[in-house]
Amino acid sequence: MNLFAVLDQTAGRFGDRGAVFVGERQLHTWSQLRDRALRIAATLGAPGTRIAIASENRPEIVELMFAAWAAECVVVPINYKLHPREMEQIIDDAGASQVFASPKIAEGLAHGEIIDGPHYCARLAADPVDPPRDIDPTRLAWLFYTSGTTGRSKGAMLTHRNLMAMTVSHLADFDAPDQDCSLLHGAPMSHGSGLYIPPYVLRGARQVIPRSAAFEPDEFLDLCDHHPGCSAFLAPTMVQRLVQTGRSCPRNLRTVVYGGGPMYVESLKKAMAAFGPIFVQLYGQGEAPMTITGLRRADHVDADDAVLGSVGYARSGVDVAVLGDDGTPAAMGEIGEIVCRGDVVMAGYWNNPEATSKTLQDGWLRTGDMGSFDARGFLTLRDRSKDVVISGGSNIYPREVEEVLLEHPGVDEAGVVGAPDDEWGEVVVAFVVGTATADELDAHLLDRIARFKRPKRYEFIDELPKNSYGKVLKRALRERLAQ
Ligand code: AMP
Repeated sequence: MNLFAVLDQTAGRFGDRGAVFVGERQLHTWSQLRDRALRIAATLGAPGTRIAIASENRPEIVELMFAAWAAECVVVPINYKLHPREMEQIIDDAGASQVFASPKIAEGLAHGEIIDGPHYCARLAADPVDPPRDIDPTRLAWLFYTSGTTGRSKGAMLTHRNLMAMTVSHLADFDAPDQDCSLLHGAPMSHGSGLYIPPYVLRGARQVIPRSAAFEPDEFLDLCDHHPGCSAFLAPTMVQRLVQTGRSCPRNLRTVVYGGGPMYVESLKKAMAAFGPIFVQLYGQGEAPMTITGLRRADHVDADDAVLGSVGYARSGVDVAVLGDDGTPAAMGEIGEIVCRGDVVMAGYWNNPEATSKTLQDGWLRTGDMGSFDARGFLTLRDRSKDVVISGGSNIYPREVEEVLLEHPGVDEAGVVGAPDDEWGEVVVAFVVGTATADELDAHLLDRIARFKRPKRYEFIDELPKNSYGKVLKRALRERLAQ
């Protein structure tokens, strides 16, 4: 199948209902959205053409995605927070022959058509194409450029089948929207929030794009008062920013899916205390979009810390395993590399057979994340294999030390890394943002975790280095130590 069918079906059923909204204002109905997509499709070029979209959250992203799919082209969404040079690298790597950019971003790019500019409007005057028929589900739909926390960004090739598997799993596990519901795009539509367009369009739920084109917590909460049955995907830092508003949960905010990076137990508890049981957790990666494991809403209710600190259990249609060093399944409680398989797993990396063969092995996606299953089947993520600290022959998982540091009231943020050491191989160093002193933190940790896991050194800083997705850059912390 082709994902355009998702829009086609909804336009058939709910043609006159509101589809795309900017803030409170309705922009297009489902019929109008379908018509615009089919007209733009007529101008995009041959099947397989890569169409890059570099824009803050804007309504045109929705029509461009469906236009690309109607033309059997491939979308290459680019995070709007990247540097123009990084954007150019992606455009170049993908071999994108058309680049749609918002006015602000177009200024920094060598080539790019301005979304909503005169040329774009001319596309809408074209004769619409017919919806695609009988297409191969293994065709590419999306080149997903990974956030590159562990190196240069690679393009995960996502097929129509991959995104349909993600869609079905989302609707089965996490959320059951209908035509009286809404998807609020708080996080970048180039990534998590955009990936959720197909499941919500399939059910006829409104696509709501904030007027600020970004995530402003107060605007986000206000919008929930204007749209029915709201759901959103938010990065953990965004959830924290919602809580920091001090506001209570709007009546219409039904579901917040968080994930894509660690949500610390203390932060999650605060969020649940402030907003109630509206949270769902996903663990996924560009290579298995939004869909490896998860914790449903009900799993959060009355859950112990082990459950809240876990990433849940396998999503519908996905097999998940933990492999030991010898490549065989690890025993319960033993830490190994997390692998998964299923229709959601990417076809490989774009133009990168070497990286593909390292990552897709024996039918499994090697996630590069370390974790272990407990007796109840909950998977706990430790760290990416590259972030594990090996000190005196013992593995220390930075996430565990960070969780405990964050329980201290004088710690706002913590990032733990290993520093080379002649005696121990590596020692643990904690970068801390907050008011606590090294002695206080040492005493705090001594009461809670094994001695050998304690940082040998604390570095107090104003802010942790993060990439444009809000993920802490461990690499940058290690570089600081090397200097
Ligand atoms: P990306 O492909 O850029 O989306 O990054 C995916 C990586 O983010 C995963 O391999 C994990 O290391 C991390 N990640 C994703 N979801 C979670 C989660 N729920 N908890 C902790 N880390 C996560």
